[in-house]
Amino acid sequence: HPLLPSLTAPDGTDRPDALTVAGRDCSREQLLGAAGAVAARITGAPCVAVHASASLETVVAVVGGLLAGVPVVPLPPDAGPLERDHILRDSGAALVLGERGDGGLPVDIRQRADWSAPEPDGQATALLLYTSGTTGAPKGVMIPRAAVAACLDGLADAWHWTAEDTLAHGLPLFHVHGLVLGVLGALRTGCRLVHTGRPTPQAYAAAGGSLYFGVPTVWSRIVAEPSAARALSGARLLVSGSAALPAPVFRGLEELTGQRPVERYGMTETLITVSARADGERRPGTVGTPLPGVRTRIAQEAGGIGELEVSGPTLFTGYLGRPQATAAAHTADGWFRTGDIAAVEADGTHRIVGRASTDLIKSGGYRIGAGEVENALLDHPAVAEAAVVGVSHDDLGQEIVAYVVAEGVSERALIDFVAERLSAHKRPRRVRFLDALPRNAMGKPQKRLLPPV
Ligand code: ATP
Ligand code: MG
Repeated sequence: HPLLPSLTAPDGTDRPDALTVAGRDCSREQLLGAAGAVAARITGAPCVAVHASASLETVVAVVGGLLAGVPVVPLPPDAGPLERDHILRDSGAALVLGERGDGGLPVDIRQRADWSAPEPDGQATALLLYTSGTTGAPKGVMIPRAAVAACLDGLADAWHWTAEDTLAHGLPLFHVHGLVLGVLGALRTGCRLVHTGRPTPQAYAAAGGSLYFGVPTVWSRIVAEPSAARALSGARLLVSGSAALPAPVFRGLEELTGQRPVERYGMTETLITVSARADGERRPGTVGTPLPGVRTRIAQEAGGIGELEVSGPTLFTGYLGRPQATAAAHTADGWFRTGDIAAVEADGTHRIVGRASTDLIKSGGYRIGAGEVENALLDHPAVAEAAVVGVSHDDLGQEIVAYVVAEGVSERALIDFVAERLSAHKRPRRVRFLDALPRNAMGKPQKRLLPPV
């Protein structure tokens, strides 16, 4: 079972622009030849790093690693020296592959070699991906080949994703979203890939995709430019993930493109486990149902919410060199603790309420998911963004504090607005106004960077 069947068994549908990355075209045959040359050079290495700029070279280098059965660790191209050193030292990568001139071992897409080797074992590490570091130092996640295959096949099933599609996106190529879904997904299904370089609304509007991937920030910028959004109305499926898609953005996309976006949920350790389906219902604030073979459960449910645990074929094999962290992330019966707080509705649809570490607020004896309060605030037309946290409080344990990006509305009015929608104990006690929420490159809110109250 080859991981990338469309490469190793060209099916007669190759084309000169099977992949377009940042304006440069490449056929699948060219990719296979160039990746074969990389594989021949690195075979036997314990692990290789790839300078993961949004370029054809990155795709060639990653595919070369997969052909050779050498684990690939993508380096964020804008990583500072500390982060780069951490990843290189932690992973033990001996070699950095990359574009010419960036200090790494150059990858040449005109070079080619025939490469053949037996398909590595499904449990062999395909990728070593570092987590985003939202809750601590980034950890190296060992992702086996079989997990990549299972995840991509599950998504193909959920999204009716086939070789007929053109996938368009402008995501970075060093996380699950851009690399596993956004590159390997195209190579596994055999569909055409257009990587837009930067994910601007104009670039998305011009990409001609049938299937689009974006993080919420990308979608929110597209909604803010109605002409770009309208240009996507011919697309088959708009997919959002990596962080919660705010309901106003969901509704904006529906209004402007005529279709509801599909939201999916996952993480580096589990790949994508839950998604809305192309043929299913799509409701704002929900991420759909488990992919084929994935099981989910809610631990210590109270008030309908609790920590989401998952098991199934898409899971990682462990954190590199961190057996204790790996053990701590699993239950005694082998399920992975996601660290996310979720609720499952009667029809099996999952809602992600937030993270256990920052988004589960314990106030006055109640457990409150920050996401529920954030969604209530976002229902107010004046509120563009909202982040809700629990702050230590002598009497309540924690009190609910909201940070909002909003104009023309008072603190009092927002508190009352939430109190009218949710139970009284879920209303924020204080509201702080910011110009923007702190977010990382994937658009994930960085709550620990919020200013003190
Ligand atoms: P670290 O583990 O280093 O703290 P991280 O958890 O941000 O960083 P990732 O693995 O890239 O690193 O992100 C996974 C997290 O992203 C999930 O645990 C979840 O909190 C969030 N997430 C992903 N998709 C969604 C979604 N559709 N809705 C809400 N949250 C999401
Ligand atoms: Mg995490």
